[in-house]
Amino acid sequence: PKKPLSDIEIARQAKMQRIEAIAEKAGIPDEAFEPYGKHIAKIDLDKIPGLQDRPDGKLILVTAINPTPAGEGKTTTTVGLGDGLAAIGKKTMICLREPSLGPCFGVKGGAAGGGYAQIVPMEQINLHFTGDFHAITSAHNLLSAMIDNHIYWGNALGIDTRRVTWRRVLDMNDRSLRAINSSLGGVSNGFPREDGFDITVASEVMAVFCLAKDLADLEERLGKMIIGYTRDKKAITAADIKASSAMTVLLKDALKPNLVQTLEGNPAFVHGGPFANIAHGCNSVTATRAGLKLADYVVTEAGFGADLGAEKFFDIKCRKAGLTPAAVVIVATVRALKMHGGVPKDQLGKENLEALRKGLANLGRHVENVRKFGVSAIVGINHFIADTPAEHELIAQVCKEQFGVDAVVCSHWAEGSKGTEELARRVVALAEAPHPLDGRGFRTLYPDEMPLWDKMKLIAKEIYRAADIIADQKVRDQFRDIEAAGFGHLPICVAKTQYSFSTDPNHRGAPVDHVVPIREVRLSAGAGFLVVVCGEIMTMPGLPRVPSAEFIRLDTKGQIEGLF
Ligand code: ADP
Ligand code: MG
Repeated sequence: PKKPLSDIEIARQAKMQRIEAIAEKAGIPDEAFEPYGKHIAKIDLDKIPGLQDRPDGKLILVTAINPTPAGEGKTTTTVGLGDGLAAIGKKTMICLREPSLGPCFGVKGGAAGGGYAQIVPMEQINLHFTGDFHAITSAHNLLSAMIDNHIYWGNALGIDTRRVTWRRVLDMNDRSLRAINSSLGGVSNGFPREDGFDITVASEVMAVFCLAKDLADLEERLGKMIIGYTRDKKAITAADIKASSAMTVLLKDALKPNLVQTLEGNPAFVHGGPFANIAHGCNSVTATRAGLKLADYVVTEAGFGADLGAEKFFDIKCRKAGLTPAAVVIVATVRALKMHGGVPKDQLGKENLEALRKGLANLGRHVENVRKFGVSAIVGINHFIADTPAEHELIAQVCKEQFGVDAVVCSHWAEGSKGTEELARRVVALAEAPHPLDGRGFRTLYPDEMPLWDKMKLIAKEIYRAADIIADQKVRDQFRDIEAAGFGHLPICVAKTQYSFSTDPNHRGAPVDHVVPIREVRLSAGAGFLVVVCGEIMTMPGLPRVPSAEFIRLDTKGQIEGLF
């Protein structure tokens, strides 16, 4: 058989419509529309008359089982389901995150979907796009520069240079910058101190950007970000450094959602992009809210497995933005389930019902977990070429009999919307059911007023099925101090490996009674959550032994090769 076309080949063959036509389809008036070339536009939401007074459409979350190197296809399914909903006549908006350069040049590749379920222009979306990440990186580093400058010019605020918690950022996987010494080289370069870099998608500015309602809210939240402490441990904020207004200026245009199209010419907002293992993992609130006003259905993705992405989507994004999800699609693949059942990557091509049955425990756990939030779920089986009918049947049967959930095979990767119409119809039925699930409706896992330590313990027990959480006295004291400083009402943003319910990335399937070690906590007072770092997880990734960057190049026609 002919080798299937690569994502980039399919994307390049696409007959894109001019972005004006897509804006018109989405009901965005000309005044609100700022083209960035022919196929991308930024949307000024303030210029859409009466937008905020319109009723909300239905919000559909796409999440997944724990990822494996076999791939799951959440973004691909989000795009495919959006196209499927449009194909059955629903006015639809897709809301996705902007890709980071780190994974593009590392292992994972781009993040614009795959096969015949992609958003385009793929190359621009994956590379510099509209410069939002540049703006976020610059705003973050402006604050870093102003902190060291403040110290240099006399340190009137009395910042303890050993207690500066604000690091620097870069949108690249670069492990050599995780821990550095800065201000070296003599008196005129300032006061040497230990410093370090995170990847831009882990920046609190990124989280603030994604959770802010508008520019005023953005500026206020930026001002509340804590940059470090004095010798007597008084918190110093970005507002104290007088940086938040200039940072807002740098972010002014970035805060407008970016509009692009799917291969089938349906509108998609691609805006903001925190990682889901080290940050909250969802696209911007501004884009999601605008989508809900513009469309009857918004399909959005939360990063990684439902233990990380969906939990934070519900407990952070929905809680803070007052959003109510109408239904959840949990993406699973035969390949990934077999890996959860113990099959090594090089043997995934063979039918293996026994391993599949074993691996289904991972899916079952996520189904149960999603229900704890009071939302109905459906399983989307993302069809891969090597899947067998018996494998699909087994998944559907176990889902129905043991997990009480429907599973639908989707072939959007190969066929576009034709492959998701059935899923789309089922999703509409779930979202429009008068009393979904237990009739109590959507709820977060824990109330604001629960103590921080108890919130973390509840997540670990209910979602990860851990026996307990543990931490050194130093970390426990931090929980207590943060509570005492008046931040006890914040939700928790867990930073944890995406590969397992536990903190051990090799522990696939559905582990129980493990212990979750808390290594570190970081207060994100501007974003409004407490980052709890569990196990070994890096806020600055590294590149693999052979990074994708080694294969990315321009061909003789000046076209990009090797981006996927
Ligand atoms: P996620 O959002 O879960 O990380 P993506 O949707 O970005 O996953 O997909 C990851 C990769 O897997 C993409 O390169 C995509 O082309 C590929 N992929 C997704 N679905 C399929 C499929 N059904 N068959 C083959 N490749 C697929
Ligand atoms: Mg994705």
